[in-house]
Amino acid sequence: MDRCRTQVQGRDSQEEVILMRERTLLLIKPDALQRGLLGEILSRFERKGFKIVGLKMLQMTKDLAKEHYAHLVSKPFYPDLEKFVTEHPLVAAVVEGKEAVEVVRLIVGPTNASRAPAGTIRGDLSNSTSRNVIHASDSKETAAKEIHRFFKPHELFEYGLSHDSWLYATDE
Ligand code: UDP
Ligand code: MG
Repeated sequence: MDRCRTQVQGRDSQEEVILMRERTLLLIKPDALQRGLLGEILSRFERKGFKIVGLKMLQMTKDLAKEHYAHLVSKPFYPDLEKFVTEHPLVAAVVEGKEAVEVVRLIVGPTNASRAPAGTIRGDLSNSTSRNVIHASDSKETAAKEIHRFFKPHELFEYGLSHDSWLYATDE
């Protein structure tokens, strides 16, 4: 089980235990917004059963791009990548669910969308290694850092869904 427990104060001052599942960061990149694919991409995570617990539109600054893509700053393609992600708005989201980091990466597909399997977001919606429509955190440690990078604590929500009990078995 990858859930962690957080205790919050219940309505009648009784302590209520909320089971908060794993969270990961998504960036629906500017190419996806320009191509009208935002709804299509978000709906894939909703349909899988992930809960959207944070959502915002923003335009990345060059400084934020350099921080977010620090592992790529020395690559020859970095200037193009920085221009691509900073010149138009994108949408950042935090999704929550069982094994969110790993499962979301499977749904997203590999970096080179030309070789991404059909059925993945990149495989279905892109044919590029660069304009590959979405970013997703690549490990639990990265997810924690990236969520913090794009969202303040009060911009993330803990809430129940009427169909929560239909998403997972009780021992999952
Ligand atoms: N990228 C690129 N050219 C490359 C490799 C990566 O433009 O040869 C861009 C692409 O948008 C990719 C992003 O840099 O999604 C981050 O690269 P990373 O290796 O972290 O891949 P990801 O985690 O996005 O699959
Ligand atoms: Mg990456």
